[in-house]
Amino acid sequence: MRFAFLVHPLSEEAKALLHWDAGGVLRRQSNVELLSFCSQLHQRVSHGVQVSAGEPRVRSVDEFRDLTSDVGASAEGRLYEIPMYAEEILLNPSRAMGYIEEATLMAAEWGAKLVGLGSMTGVIGGSGTYLAERAPIAVTTGNSLTVYSALKNLHRVCAEADLDLTHETVAVIGVPGSIATAAATLLAPQCNRLLLVARQSSSRAKQIAKQLGAELTFDIRGALAETRVVLTATSSGNCIDQSWLRPGSVVVDVAVPTDVRGSQAERSDVLVISGGLIRVPDAMPLNSMFLDFHHGMIPSCLGETMVLGLEGRAECFSLGRNLNADSIMEIGAIASAHGFDFSQLYSFGLQLEPSNLAQYRKAASSCRRAAIKNRGSVGEIASPPPTVVDLAERSAALYQRYINPVLIAMGGKNGFAKTFVRGQGNYLWDAAGRRYLDLVAGFGSLNMGHNHPRVAAAITSAIEQQAPGFVQSAVNPLTAELAERLVAITPASLELVFFANSGTEAVEAALKLARTTSGRSGLLYCERSYHGKSLGALSVTGNLKYQKPFGPLLPDCQAVRFGDLESLKSMLETRRFAAFIVEPIQAEGGMIVAPDGYLRRVQELCRATDTLLIVDEVQTGMGRTGDLFAVEREGVEPDIMTLAKSLGGGMMPLGAMLCRRSLWHKAYGTVSNFALHTSTFGGGSLASAAGLAAIRTLEEEGLAEKARQRGQQLYDGLADLCQRCDVVKEVRGRGLLLGLEFHPLPKQFLSAWKLRFGMGQFLMPEFESVIESIPTLYAMQGLIQEFGIYAQVARSNPLVLRLQPPLTITAEEVNQVLAAVEQVCFEFDRSNKMFDGILAKSTLGKHEGASGVSAVGAGNTTGPAAAVPQPVI
Ligand code: PLP
Repeated sequence: MRFAFLVHPLSEEAKALLHWDAGGVLRRQSNVELLSFCSQLHQRVSHGVQVSAGEPRVRSVDEFRDLTSDVGASAEGRLYEIPMYAEEILLNPSRAMGYIEEATLMAAEWGAKLVGLGSMTGVIGGSGTYLAERAPIAVTTGNSLTVYSALKNLHRVCAEADLDLTHETVAVIGVPGSIATAAATLLAPQCNRLLLVARQSSSRAKQIAKQLGAELTFDIRGALAETRVVLTATSSGNCIDQSWLRPGSVVVDVAVPTDVRGSQAERSDVLVISGGLIRVPDAMPLNSMFLDFHHGMIPSCLGETMVLGLEGRAECFSLGRNLNADSIMEIGAIASAHGFDFSQLYSFGLQLEPSNLAQYRKAASSCRRAAIKNRGSVGEIASPPPTVVDLAERSAALYQRYINPVLIAMGGKNGFAKTFVRGQGNYLWDAAGRRYLDLVAGFGSLNMGHNHPRVAAAITSAIEQQAPGFVQSAVNPLTAELAERLVAITPASLELVFFANSGTEAVEAALKLARTTSGRSGLLYCERSYHGKSLGALSVTGNLKYQKPFGPLLPDCQAVRFGDLESLKSMLETRRFAAFIVEPIQAEGGMIVAPDGYLRRVQELCRATDTLLIVDEVQTGMGRTGDLFAVEREGVEPDIMTLAKSLGGGMMPLGAMLCRRSLWHKAYGTVSNFALHTSTFGGGSLASAAGLAAIRTLEEEGLAEKARQRGQQLYDGLADLCQRCDVVKEVRGRGLLLGLEFHPLPKQFLSAWKLRFGMGQFLMPEFESVIESIPTLYAMQGLIQEFGIYAQVARSNPLVLRLQPPLTITAEEVNQVLAAVEQVCFEFDRSNKMFDGILAKSTLGKHEGASGVSAVGAGNTTGPAAAVPQPVI
């Protein structure tokens, strides 16, 4: 449907400013009515503006062609300019009405079935009623969607500010204006107390207050002192000084020009939100050629006109001073269905940045602390803590704001970084209730699955017994018991335990022990190894990407190739090294298994050169590889061993370093040395209770044996797939520590992708590695989206898909995984070959069937075997 929308110019001064600000500099500094629709528009209109000779005329100044919503509805619109400034319209409404009627006739001639009244054109003439009686087409002021979006903004900002409307006094400024009155009507049942602020006493204002059970005042400043939640929508503007606001206040300002004075936020302890703005659907251009949408943000009055246009509803809407509450909710719901979005908060013409919100929360929480100090309590009604599901709605946004913006920016929308709200056994659930089989298992921390009842019961029991939290230089019975159990189940060489909270801390303890007992400073480690990210552990982690930004790291650290006994021997024979640290299987490095007999020989070489052998079983331990510890396979007895991850039973952070008795005595066996290496939290009650339960579970449920059986089943199935499917190269690992490696994309594909991205690739520093990991990303996405199977890519080797489920996975679930992986891989293979064929045809002129071999497959050295293009999907 065709629609029209009426606009008018700003004052000469504002126009000149905006014209000058073509580069948007001013927008960053000031709101100079930026948020008014006119300012958006007239930056464009002012080019070649008709301030020329003769009578000013109504004219069509802009056009939206092919507006399409997210559900595929379409509409077309034109903007008509009334040649009067805002003040002139208010001063001379009858002249303005003449222009408005003229514009409406022009629109009708063009074929518009509806006209929307922008800015001041909707204020005069009884808010559209006068025009509606005379116009040949339907009329709307767009005020209903304005109210809807203002309330959406209010709810959102209250959620951001932790303000619960049911406990708050809300001030609505601007009654008896239509927007303020409608907003107050909808807010009345939602808030604790409603305060209406009018400019002067009027029977209508009194009547509204009476109907809503609200208090009426004419003192804006006084009202602001009583509330922290404000919605303001006067027609005069400029009535609120920022200094009048209570600390912690949130203000939604719907007025044009704005009610809150100033051109930028003057205080970090209040949030002033631009109300009445919405974002156009994704399917619409975010920066129109004609209308300078500010990243897709438009005033809601235009939004309402667009929505009615998209719906094909040529009917009058939002007329007069009494807006209908049902119609407000109806237009909001329809706008949402078309993809209009209410979630972005703007303040003083700029998007509210994460830092604004973080600073607000800091300031607001210090006000809160001061209030508690002064009054003994904040006087709020205590409510039960929110559930995990309740919290989930905004947790990705909070991650983006406070934890890892890139993780969410990259992975949030496309599903890599999912929000999970529940974990039980082998499964995870998202907030929508969808279940996912967990093949990541906390990178090896969940060998017993999520929330194993035995582990949970042990922790609960410790709490119920009021076991001591943390005791320093004293004895904790749970810690003592755990040490004994650990020593009992680990290789015979290990007799003393140091408790930490993570793998990297266990490694630190091991490295320090090796240095102090050996009198040597050198540390030997393996290329592609992973031992943690604290500085010591990082120094022996064979991954330059992780190391480089943090140098200089520990001196005297040297890498050798994993599995290469010759190099190891020659290094060790220098006798420079305190220790050689090694993983039985390099999990993070891409599930690389050492050759048979390697660890045994390593042990001999270490002993022959008086070098300590540190085996890092942080990931391979606790049953993961089919043995309780991977060293058992070759009967290796390390001098030092590190554990973490599943030691905490999947519920508590817990790490441990175990060592020979002689080493411990040498390092710490004197009165002056016994506390040289300590950790405040290491071996706390709850972690120790979880550790004890984890060991019991491992033994009594035979989890190592299960890992061996299910691991073999998974391995065999994947090995068979590698024989049959071109995109997968090999399966590696042992037990349930497996990785499926994909072939790299052929070089031609990479070039084609780069070509497609053009200059964009140079803006994305990780472009190459993202493109190279497409096969694994594809598989990961397919598994999660189509099959509800959650898998991840090995960080140090992006062509490896990690398959590392809880050891409690069943035979049936393994079969499901195999079927799903097979389907995803063949699907990728097919699209790969089709793309291959397209590339061949389009770039090299080869045609399907011409040679039976695609150009890419034939000429490619690294890609899959020769491929016949099959346009299957
Ligand atoms: N060592 C190995 C073998 C690991 O796999 C890891 C973590 O993946 C670590 C050490 C570091 O453990 P954390 O992340 O608990 O510090």
